[in-house]
Amino acid sequence: MALIVQKYGGTSVANPERIKEVAKRVAKTRDAGHKVVVVVSAMSGETDKLIGLAKQITDTPDERELDMLVSTGERVTIALLAMALQKIGHPSQSFTGRQVGIITDSVHTKAKIERVSAERVMNTIDEGKIPVIAGFQGIDEKSDVTTLGRGGSDLTAVALAASLKADICEIYTDVGGVFTGDPNIVSNARKLDKISYDEMLEMASSGAKVLQTRSVEYAKRYEVPLVVRSSFNENPGTAVTKEDKDMEKVIVSGVTYNKNEAKVTIMGVPDRPGVAAKLFGSIADSEIVVDMILQNVSSDGKQADISFTVPKGDLKKALAITKEAAKELGARDVIAREDIAKVSIVGVGMRTHSGVAAKMFETLAREGINIIAISTSEIKISCLIEAKYTELATRMLHDTFELGEEAMVKE
Ligand code: ASP
Ligand code: MG
Repeated sequence: MALIVQKYGGTSVANPERIKEVAKRVAKTRDAGHKVVVVVSAMSGETDKLIGLAKQITDTPDERELDMLVSTGERVTIALLAMALQKIGHPSQSFTGRQVGIITDSVHTKAKIERVSAERVMNTIDEGKIPVIAGFQGIDEKSDVTTLGRGGSDLTAVALAASLKADICEIYTDVGGVFTGDPNIVSNARKLDKISYDEMLEMASSGAKVLQTRSVEYAKRYEVPLVVRSSFNENPGTAVTKEDKDMEKVIVSGVTYNKNEAKVTIMGVPDRPGVAAKLFGSIADSEIVVDMILQNVSSDGKQADISFTVPKGDLKKALAITKEAAKELGARDVIAREDIAKVSIVGVGMRTHSGVAAKMFETLAREGINIIAISTSEIKISCLIEAKYTELATRMLHDTFELGEEAMVKE
């Protein structure tokens, strides 16, 4: 008998029929003798709809109120799923984030979990009931409702799994697992049977939408065994685990892209110590996460242009802060660009193989795709390009590194 946390995403609970299907799947796990804890997202599209409502009231909704609003999406699905389970003879109770003791900091719309007291969940299991818990939400020290960032139900599930010392955390979605490339773009994308935490972390943070980045970080830290699989079939999905020897043999595990970033450039800043510290200090203070950074110094060495990328949703805020800093620093101008995308290749094998970056740049060059900026980690290389080339670049890189189905058969 195992303790299993199952998280069902928006498409898995998109309507009453789907919710009944999820109830059946939960019941099956329970009937097999396991203890089950369920975490659910809002119905698909619901969170966007709620944000849309707020935007009809104001362009810049107060973030505390936004959390109060969007957290309602998950309240709907927990209650409906608990009813669906009861209807098929399985005692069940729904809980909000507050009720199960998910305590966060006070950074509204992207709060960090500080602790989880899973006592109530344990008690519910002991009473023979299936707890159904609202993902994506918690409360801060003041008992104000907070949310954990888009896709945050994954984090709720992982945090609960860690706290309950669950045997496994299953993330149910509408795709079969983690793929070598976005199957909507790459026709021969292949499902991975397993992937390391580090690779998954890089893939999630570089655009693979299958798991929320912070949930992977948390899973890695507490070594929560994760499985990503479809709620629409019985296929086993992808295991996200600790790295093993086999994994190093594969140089590139996947290609990802992210169209959700914008580039800000501050032009003509004096080239002296402290400039970057001032600029990025102000941006960090407003909880905006900067991704790529590049600096060009003019040939006379007196002035520099600094460019950086931020999530599109944070562009307005980032621009305002940068313009403020530009004034103080005596910079010439600040401009923004939104028609950009980042394509990345990820794989632990890069640590031990050379020439991977060159191969990536050659592939882009062959297609006449200009590289605006480059960033690397030990196991990832990212190139910023014009957004219109995203699909082409993704397909070509997937081919170059022989990630597709046929490539595997040939070997
Ligand atoms: N409902 C939230 C969102 O759409 C959280 C989640 O689905 O994980 O971002
Ligand atoms: Mg999700």
